[in-house]
Amino acid sequence: MMNHPIAGHAPARPSPLAHTDAPGSGGAVSAFIAPGRIRLTALPPLSLYVHFPWCVRKCPYCDFNSHAFTRDPNDAQFPETEYLDALRADLEAALPLIWGRPVHTVFIGGGTPSLLSAQAIDRLLSDLRALLPLDADAEITLEANPGTFEAAKFASFRSSGVNRLSIGIQSFNDAHLQALGRIHDAAQARRAVEIARSSFDNFNLDLMFALPGQTLAQCQADVETALSFAPPHLSLYHLTLEPNTYFHKYPPALPDDDTSADMQEWIHARTREAGYHRYEVSAYAKAHRQSRHNLNYWQFGDYLGIGAGAHSKLSFPERIVRQMRYKHPATYLAQTAAGVPIQEQHEVSARDLPFEFMLNALRLTEGFPVHRFIERTGMTMTSVEPALAQAERRGLIRRDHAGIAPTSLGQRFLNDLQALFLKDDA
Ligand code: SF4
Repeated sequence: MMNHPIAGHAPARPSPLAHTDAPGSGGAVSAFIAPGRIRLTALPPLSLYVHFPWCVRKCPYCDFNSHAFTRDPNDAQFPETEYLDALRADLEAALPLIWGRPVHTVFIGGGTPSLLSAQAIDRLLSDLRALLPLDADAEITLEANPGTFEAAKFASFRSSGVNRLSIGIQSFNDAHLQALGRIHDAAQARRAVEIARSSFDNFNLDLMFALPGQTLAQCQADVETALSFAPPHLSLYHLTLEPNTYFHKYPPALPDDDTSADMQEWIHARTREAGYHRYEVSAYAKAHRQSRHNLNYWQFGDYLGIGAGAHSKLSFPERIVRQMRYKHPATYLAQTAAGVPIQEQHEVSARDLPFEFMLNALRLTEGFPVHRFIERTGMTMTSVEPALAQAERRGLIRRDHAGIAPTSLGQRFLNDLQALFLKDDA
């Protein structure tokens, strides 16, 4: 589906862990708990991400790990049971790395996980509950594509335990949906939201703006339609042309910078007026309806990612480790069957930690409390004082004894602000 939160930058630099522990099912636990270069006083909250890597077809702007299959019964279908078996095996192998830690949120993303059958989601959630200490009130989100909505199936997802839907609408305008290569039209988008509302009180609508040929009035019409459904949460993304996408190779005519800035400004004002709080670059929520899963990413919490190409960030008392599973579904299935789903893992160096933290935390409009930086990175504020002082001088952050937040200038020039925390190789 559309736009996952930035889960963190994962520079592939050599680390003691990478040298001592071959990628595999997670490696010997002793390598993770051996003495390291940082000290964490407490481990952060833990989330689970489950990746489903198939879509009906590939959208021209999409750079996610998604692979097209066809619905023609004569063609190859995605192997539902085999994939569920692999997810279970993947999770079982990873358990020693998160032993005893409660899981606060689950996000089933993709790809298009709403292609899974009702029975498959039921089995997946039963497997997760059997293997993990899931919080009783865990937020469990499923990404859904309006081209896959059937009322009975979604009611069943709800009774299996999914309690939040994130619906990839993108636009309510037929011409724009077609330009984006979406499999649904505007009528299906509206119907999907109606079905979602009948079973779920908590849901998010994903929309994009600055679409090919879009005018300010068309952008306003899209957002007004979304607001008419009173969604508890909205994600409003500026379309970007990502490398390795069809749109990057054959760029469509997009609105100019002034028009897209006007769209952005209007969105900020209109959502505020409608009672939404913009708590992150592209995320808007009604009171108490922020995405708990995404907040955990942005607060530099931990996450275990299972499934093809999924990323993990896991903390241990003296190190933070990043992992990536094999990306291609066929390779992932084969590697998981062989007991080695992890393609790459490395320890985040102390030099990279401040940047990785800021890359996430400064996306939040309210920034972060000072203690969170210390707690989640195991480092002192002194280690980032020169960068903070520079950011303050340039008017990019405001701070007091308790917290640090980007100013509106800092939010506008977020990349420049985050880059201040990069350390040179020298
Ligand atoms: S539905 Fe389109 S945007 Fe979403 S993951 Fe599939 S190909 Fe990518």
